[in-house]
Amino acid sequence: MKHVIVIGGGAAGMMAAIAAAEEGAKVSLLEQNEKTGKKIFITGKGRCNLTNACDQENFFDSVINNGKFLYSAFYKMDNYSVMKFFEEAGCPLKKERGERIFPVSDHSSDVISALNRQLEKKGVKVYLRTCVKEVLMDQDEETPSKKCITGVKLFDERIISADAVIIATGGKSYESTGSTGDGYKFAEAAGHMVKDIKPALVPFTTKEDWCMKLQGLSLKNVAVTLRNEKKTIYQGFGEMLFTHFGVSGPMILTASSYYAKKYYGTPAVLSIDLKPALTKEQLDKRLLKDFDENKNRQFKNALDGLFPSKLIPVMIKLSGILPEKRVNEITKEERAGLVERMKNLTLIITGTRDFHEAIITQGGVHVKEINPSTMESRLVKGLFFAGEVLDVDALTGGFNLQIAWSTGYLAGISAAVI
Ligand SMILES: Cc1cc2nc3c(=O)[nH]c(=O)nc-3n(C[C@H](O)[C@H](O)[C@H](O)COP(=O)(O)OP(=O)(O)OC[C@H]3O[C@@H](n4cnc5c(N)ncnc54)[C@H](O)[C@@H]3O)c2cc1C
Repeated sequence: MKHVIVIGGGAAGMMAAIAAAEEGAKVSLLEQNEKTGKKIFITGKGRCNLTNACDQENFFDSVINNGKFLYSAFYKMDNYSVMKFFEEAGCPLKKERGERIFPVSDHSSDVISALNRQLEKKGVKVYLRTCVKEVLMDQDEETPSKKCITGVKLFDERIISADAVIIATGGKSYESTGSTGDGYKFAEAAGHMVKDIKPALVPFTTKEDWCMKLQGLSLKNVAVTLRNEKKTIYQGFGEMLFTHFGVSGPMILTASSYYAKKYYGTPAVLSIDLKPALTKEQLDKRLLKDFDENKNRQFKNALDGLFPSKLIPVMIKLSGILPEKRVNEITKEERAGLVERMKNLTLIITGTRDFHEAIITQGGVHVKEINPSTMESRLVKGLFFAGEVLDVDALTGGFNLQIAWSTGYLAGISAAVI
């Protein structure tokens, strides 16, 4: 019987261990935390958006890096197989807006419990508080140019031998959950290239300090465009949030993933269209109407119908119009300036927040050196990778966990028959 060691008891590691055991291997799951699934616990604001019921095309459209690499893994365990797996494991599911799938209970702990029950049922030996220090390799006897797996060394210097090792150590975001980036070190020590890691699905920091005054203000139904000198990086419509350091919210997190992919660390400008349903001409007419109804009022008291109250002082300052000016004294040019601000409220992006606020890590183990049909290393026989440690990532909506389930499952069934 083959002995498979899985490093990491997160989404990918637990699924890999269950799959390898199902295929008949003896499986040891090594997790440095005191319990499995610490990151799953905080997913989906504690409700765990575990996958998405979209069609294949939409799934791959939501993958930001290396979607093609995921074809085999996704076909082996697609989103519908994941739903079936959890339903059969005693975790009933429900569908919400945007085809997002959650446990009916709204508790991520039920997803973790379902996985733990399956680990036990399949006879996986789970070792908690067990941190792997090194992955051990030797020269492969059959192919001398290649190395092969012999086992792992733990932090207490104990050595456990194995026929296959699956690295499912996650990325580097939310380090407190155990994602300490160890897998990248293991991969490099095995001769693998690790593509630069960057925080993604992460808030932006901005140069403008007026964001701080708007802290907590959420804008719905606005359009944003993120661009640099040459290109539009992202365009979206929806919801965003102001924070004490800049901007966040669903659209901004999505924008950050496109930014991280190609433009990380470079200058960019975010333009917010506060009234995307109106052209500049229509907006000017609307202003004229509003001003006409308030003609004897001061400018600062005539904006209630146009902006949320928190935004009014900021828009007054940015418009350059004196707050005490009577509305009927505002010039056509001043009105045009205000329209311009409303259609193009700009923020200079100075960067992103750090890994500890990033939902995912972009970059990771280079997929060119991994066989997509098995998740096995092309360099080291018996070495497999699964989950966020790989250079694959997707947008929010349950897609990142789907990547973990799919790659974990494929690595597990492949490692069992090495
Ligand atoms: C706040 C937040 C919310 C999220 N919400 C969602 C969501 O709703 N839907 C979604 O699809 N995705 C979500 N994600 C992303 C998703 O959680 C991750 O992409 C996914 O959990 C990655 O799974 P993984 O198994 O690869 O890694 P992890 O879940 O990070 O698991 C890695 C495990 O390896 C262990 N480990 C690391 N090094 C060692 C070592 N040396 N020895 C032993 N063990 C080790 C760690 O302790 C950890 O338990 C969210 C992420 C965050 C941070």
